[in-house]
Amino acid sequence: MRILVIEDERKVASFIKRGLEEERYIVESAADGAEGLALASANQFDAIVLDVMLPKLDGYSVLQALRAAGNATPVLMLTARASMEDRVQGLNYGADDYLAKPFHFEELAARLRSILRRSTTEKTTILACGDLQLDLVSHFAYRSEKEIELTTKEYALLEYLMRNRDRILSRSMIMQHVWKHNFDPESNIIDVYIKRLRQKIDKPGQPPLIHSIRGVGYRMRDKPVAGDDVEV
Ligand code: CA
Repeated sequence: MRILVIEDERKVASFIKRGLEEERYIVESAADGAEGLALASANQFDAIVLDVMLPKLDGYSVLQALRAAGNATPVLMLTARASMEDRVQGLNYGADDYLAKPFHFEELAARLRSILRRSTTEKTTILACGDLQLDLVSHFAYRSEKEIELTTKEYALLEYLMRNRDRILSRSMIMQHVWKHNFDPESNIIDVYIKRLRQKIDKPGQPPLIHSIRGVGYRMRDKPVAGDDVEV
């Protein structure tokens, strides 16, 4: 899941970013309201953590502009002012929840999970491929009901592969989505990560799920088709 954090206080922003990345979210951040609004308008995020007091454009204005443009991304607002009026104002403008500073990271993470669950009740929160399951909210992966421990990047890569199940993904698509870099043909980072994922997911005796497409990239599929290279 991709989260946008719009917060101008550097320490708070990096505290939130670090914590969320440890919980395996992909995090982008913006240090003022205008940059945040531009990022939120140009990209698809699963949720936005939005500070109220921001340079250039305050959090309420960012929220109003997003909702006016039909953007329904769930928003968790942060503020130093915990008065009832502020809380009501944020909710009236379309915030999904509200958290007063200072807060414990655990509380932010719990509120975020809660708004993500709510916003995804109509959509699926579990992706499956064969007997592999990925819970998009709790970030747990299971194969044959056994939990698989994944690092943040391994999780992001697996989520991308599973969201695009049965589709061939080129190395450059994977690079841009998971690493946010342009593909460097000299780098073998994707192959290294795929190898690690395979070691965790494709155990001997189970049908392999990550297939190599020679010269192109990878495809997640529960049954191989002719032309796929299967490396276990
Ligand atoms: Ca602020």
